[in-house]
Amino acid sequence: MAIPGVMRLAAAVSFLAIASSPHGAIAQQAPAPASAGQPAPAVIEDLVAANRILADQQVLDAYGHVSIRHPANPQRFLMGRNLAPALVKAEDIVEYDLDGNAVGAPAGFTHFLERFIHAEIYRARADVNAVVHSHSPAIIPFGVTQAPLKPMYHIAAFLSPNVPVFEIRKAAGGMTNMLIGDGKLGKSLAEVLGPNNVVLMRGHGNVVAAPTLPLVVFRAVYTEVNARLQAQAIAIGGPITFLDPEEAEKANKVLDQIHGRAWDLWKRKVMEQKP
Ligand SMILES: [Zn+2]
Repeated sequence: MAIPGVMRLAAAVSFLAIASSPHGAIAQQAPAPASAGQPAPAVIEDLVAANRILADQQVLDAYGHVSIRHPANPQRFLMGRNLAPALVKAEDIVEYDLDGNAVGAPAGFTHFLERFIHAEIYRARADVNAVVHSHSPAIIPFGVTQAPLKPMYHIAAFLSPNVPVFEIRKAAGGMTNMLIGDGKLGKSLAEVLGPNNVVLMRGHGNVVAAPTLPLVVFRAVYTEVNARLQAQAIAIGGPITFLDPEEAEKANKVLDQIHGRAWDLWKRKVMEQKP
């Protein structure tokens, strides 16, 4: 399986780039960062599958992204280049450092503006090895109203105890284009996520974190489903009985064991389709 963005890194390891300084003098720059190495083909295949599953499940559309921490180096992560997730192939996967710099990517590649979301969550959370950022539509109302997103049923127990809402006006100190376009905003978002599994971004979308790729895909899909169900319950009216935190904790332990069934089903479906 060809993965040019990762394979050509070795050449950059000890290379000292020569460039003009702002004053016109020739200066030596720091060495290009070394690659963490080529991941196993199965790792790349699963990341490609995750992109297609999340598009197929209507969590991602033309926008949004899914990443994994590099298995060989916790200071790196892997994510598709700037491309609609349903179109991602193995050769589109790029390695990034935790400052959001691409490592060894082909010159023609462009990169997601919001890669700092992933970088700063990996920096802040050693337990997180996979991240999804989406604009999944049913969650948007819960970022802009006073109704907190809460677990309606056992399948969404991971939403307990809390789904915080990130307010970009507060983080940036004023009006923005709503995007997490630098490390500073990414760090603020990671701080609001805290130890939780999901954070909503007011007027934008959400971020879902998990220790593994199948689990982050499961959580991203069922965050969207739970939001739909919760809006239906609100429309019916009257008080809603959410999962108690103790019920959620117990149900979550079961989800950790059984989410692989969903991954196997979804992966088989999307890998039978042509991208
Ligand atoms: Zn976004």
